[in-house]
Amino acid sequence: FFIEPGSRVDQVVTLDREETHHCLRVLRLRSGESVELIDGEGGLYRGTLSVSGRRVDVHQVVKVAEEGEPERPLLVFQGDLKGKKMDEVVLRCTELGVAGFFPFTSSRSQGRLAEERWERKQQRWRELVRSAGKQSGRLRFMEVAAEQTIEQCLAAPFASAAVKLLCWEEERTWRLSMVDWRSGPGAVCLMMGPEGGFAAEEVALGRRHGWQPVSLGNRVLRAETATLAAVAIVQHLIDT
Ligand code: SAM
Repeated sequence: FFIEPGSRVDQVVTLDREETHHCLRVLRLRSGESVELIDGEGGLYRGTLSVSGRRVDVHQVVKVAEEGEPERPLLVFQGDLKGKKMDEVVLRCTELGVAGFFPFTSSRSQGRLAEERWERKQQRWRELVRSAGKQSGRLRFMEVAAEQTIEQCLAAPFASAAVKLLCWEEERTWRLSMVDWRSGPGAVCLMMGPEGGFAAEEVALGRRHGWQPVSLGNRVLRAETATLAAVAIVQHLIDT
């Protein structure tokens, strides 16, 4: 079960409404059963359930594992996609092990959202990251950054980044298989365009900031397909 980061686990931990529903209605657990708790920041805890009506407490909580920061975090920069496609990409990137997700607006993506709509969207993504993180067994959940412009992302001083790749369907020579994945520790940054793709001047700006355009093959993929394909390949290459 998920507990908020920073929960005082040396005391009794009470599950929130969503976790209580999952415990009582879905898993139908009862008092005395042993459960695992995760805080999404690498901590894994074990405790014993105590059910009283619609309240679920966890007693005798002990920390049993701690997952550190990944040595080579995969950071995905995603051009804003229409409708539910961004939700889908957030879910799949969480399942695939992405460490950080950076949505951006660009010349050919959706315009910036009004503040309250952006707040709601970010809250929904946090809930998606929580459910996909739990389902895929992650101890350290994907972090979702505030929305930026592509210029801010391209110029971001990811000094620790070992590799910065910009997936561009016009690129004909550079492929993921040509990247030197052993180039030492550091973040791997992957930039994916919106449905309308990148403007030439955005690719040129990326090159000036050390981003390497890379091809995913000769077919032009839908934006959400390209992100899932690139993330699955790159995360596998990082992990092996
Ligand atoms: N600009 C293209 C057009 O007008 O048909 C569409 C861009 S594509 C739908 C959206 C994004 O998917 C691109 O910006 C790129 O990041 C990625 N993408 C799609 N196919 C790709 C490929 N073969 N190689 C690299 N990236 C690709």
